[in-house]
This record gives sequence, C-alpha cells and structure tokens, in this order.
Amino acid sequence: MRRRRFWLMFGFVIFLLHNQARAADPRLMDVHFIDVGQADSILIQTPQGKNLLVDAGDEGSGKGLADYLHSHGVVVLDAVIATHPHHDHIGGMSAIMKQFQVKAFYMPDLTHSTRAFRRLYEAVRREGIMIFQAKAGDKIDVEPGIKIRIVAPLKGGYDSLNEYSYVLKLVDRKNSFLFMADAGEQSETDLLEKRVNVRADIIKIGHHGANTGTTLPFLKKVNPDAAVISVGKGNRYGYPDKAVIQRLRYLKIPTYRTDLLGTIVAHSDGQRVSFTYGLENDHRSGRQKKAVIEPSANGYNKG
Ligand SMILES: [Zn+2]
Repeated sequence: MRRRRFWLMFGFVIFLLHNQARAADPRLMDVHFIDVGQADSILIQTPQGKNLLVDAGDEGSGKGLADYLHSHGVVVLDAVIATHPHHDHIGGMSAIMKQFQVKAFYMPDLTHSTRAFRRLYEAVRREGIMIFQAKAGDKIDVEPGIKIRIVAPLKGGYDSLNEYSYVLKLVDRKNSFLFMADAGEQSETDLLEKRVNVRADIIKIGHHGANTGTTLPFLKKVNPDAAVISVGKGNRYGYPDKAVIQRLRYLKIPTYRTDLLGTIVAHSDGQRVSFTYGLENDHRSGRQKKAVIEPSANGYNKG
C-alpha cells in the first residue's frame, strides 16, 4: 500500500518536471500572439520559465485563453499587463485572475476609466494581487537579458482612450519587440518628437491594423523585420485597413495576421527570431508552418 502511494507520488513529480521543461527551454523566449478574435492577447515565455501576459482578449476569450495557457505549462503568471481599459484587451482578465496565480499586475493610472476596467481593478484587489500603476520610462526587469520598458503614453489630452495605451518594448538580448496595443498617430508622433528609441525587430501593429496609426514615418523609425497584426476574421470594422497593409508592403515588411494564420508564435534565441503558426495549437489540422526572419532580410536598409 505504502509502495503504491510512493509510485503515485513519483509519477506526479515526473509530470511536474515534464511540464516545467516544456515551459523552460534553455535558449528560447517565445512570444505568443494568441488568436483571440477581434482583440489582443500576448503571452511571453522566457528561457528561465517566466510567464507574462499582455492583455487578455475580450469577455468571451477567458476560457479559451485559460486553456491555451494551461496547454503551454503556465501555472503562475509572473506579470499581467493591461495596456488600456478597453474590453477587447481586458475582458478575459478576471477569468485569468481566478485560475492562475498572478504575482504582479500592471495598469495605467487612468482617471477616466471604463466600467470593465473598474471591475477588473476590484477583482485584482480582491485576489490581493500587487498593483503597479507604471508609467512611461518605467522598466520591468524580467530576468537577466530580458526586460520590458514602458515607452508610452508620453502625454495626456488625447482624443481617444486608445492613445493612452501602454506601448511596450520587450528586449531579449539582441532582439526587440514593440507592442503598440491600440496606440495611434498621436502617441506615435509624441514618441518621434521625444526621440524615444522605438527601433525594434518585430512590431505588433497598433489598433488591430486600423488606419488610426501605423504612420509611414513611425514605421520607418521602428524599421522592423516583421510585423504582427492581432485581428478577428471578418471583423465588422474592416480591419486591417488597406492603407496600413499598403504601407507595410511598401516597406517590404513581412506581415503575420492572426485572422489568416491563427495563433502566431515568435521564437527568439536572442540573436534572431523565427515564427511558427497554423498551428502547433490547432489540434484539428496538426500542421505547423515555419518561417524564419533573417535580420535585415526584408531589403529595407537599417537606419
Ligand atoms: Zn483593441
């Protein structure tokens, strides 16, 4: 009897170790642009096994998102970041807070907030999660070689709540990612004016590819090797906008869209970035496609 319990216990430990190993590849940082329809959610898994979530889709995303995190070995979220108070970014968050241990929660200090945001804020307080009302210039040291810098919003007085989005720069050794959330032209202009270093290898295009931003001067300054658009298939807004796609084509920036490819995962080894999609997560097709982006391979000269 005692022996049987030992073996049961042993099996459980093996299972835990196996899960840990999945999450903690010794070299790679994985950035998952999760297909949450017409919404945003990004999971970052670091070489040392840390998990960070930027936005959590809309109200309907909670369950699917939780399943996705579970299937990728997530037990603890070291940080959850809400970029701004719109429902397509924070709607699924309270479901996530209930199911995962969240070590730290980052959100902008916005006085004009939405009801969804206030509800989330209350959930965070109820769960006793540490809140950081971070602002531009603040930095999250994730682990050696990996950090997230909050680069915007730089100002106030914007027309739209979208312009108050956190713009985040994730740096993994020599690689960098710029997550625009729903920031648009006003925030982009302020970043250019203040000469903030927005240069990045990969850009997550602002506002689901709407023509409210992704201006040509800004794109040129970021000078990315690839772009990702998180957008719902057949969404009623007609995103991504043709003008945005044309600008990306004009600059020869390969573009990955969740409405066409499903969940897209960028793998960073600190030197270069490769993508998989179509998907390791789609159990129906079981197929996985691979694309490797060589630095500067898009023919557009680095400035
Ligand atoms: Zn949005």
